[in-house]
Amino acid sequence: MSDRYQTILLFGPPGSGKGTQGKILAKIPGFFHSSTGDIFRNLDMQSEMGKLFYRYSSRGELVPDDVTIRIWSQNMNAHTILGQFKPNQDLLVLDGLPRSVNQAKLLYRYVDVCKVIHLVCRDTEELFSRMIRRAAKENRADDAKPDVIRRRFEVYQRETLPVLSFYDPDLVVEVDALGSPAAVLTQLLNAAVPMQDAHFNRSTEAEA
Ligand code: ADP
Repeated sequence: MSDRYQTILLFGPPGSGKGTQGKILAKIPGFFHSSTGDIFRNLDMQSEMGKLFYRYSSRGELVPDDVTIRIWSQNMNAHTILGQFKPNQDLLVLDGLPRSVNQAKLLYRYVDVCKVIHLVCRDTEELFSRMIRRAAKENRADDAKPDVIRRRFEVYQRETLPVLSFYDPDLVVEVDALGSPAAVLTQLLNAAVPMQDAHFNRSTEAEA
């Protein structure tokens, strides 16, 4: 078996619901959800890394690629050592990574992407209001100010959207992000469950 993590990418603009769906999937045995946004927000904000994250995110910018990949891979190692993530059994659901073509290249040695779920939303105004509501609830510096949100959309268009062309178009499934959470989940499961079954069967065959 490949020693890269079998992975589903949750892909889409800020506010498209990647985190909402990732958290639901995380409750199902056999899926492991990893969100770079959550990893960064859990850093000690007094530490050098925490300050660096705040500096970029509060301007709506991406954290530099090398730092992002390093922190993420350390976090994955920690979950693996603790037995919370079992690479041979669990399908990794990656949310918020890669966010640039360079990150996709750096990530290649760690992850084997078997599906890209693209949460599509052309109504930026709706995403905008979702993010303003979320900022009020979650105290997020990156969503609090309209000009920061606008900057995040610009960065998404310029840096993140081109990531889609890094992957085989046959791997990409488009899902309407404006559907209800349950409707989005249904489509997501339709794409993800066969991948999880295949991964699980491969690992039991390898053990036999
Ligand atoms: P959202 O869910 O709104 O898309 P996230 O919670 O995933 O946002 O990310 C919050 C912030 O964390 C981003 O604005 C960015 O500054 C930083 N960040 C998250 N993932 C990455 C990444 N892969 N590369 C660089 N910066 C990132």
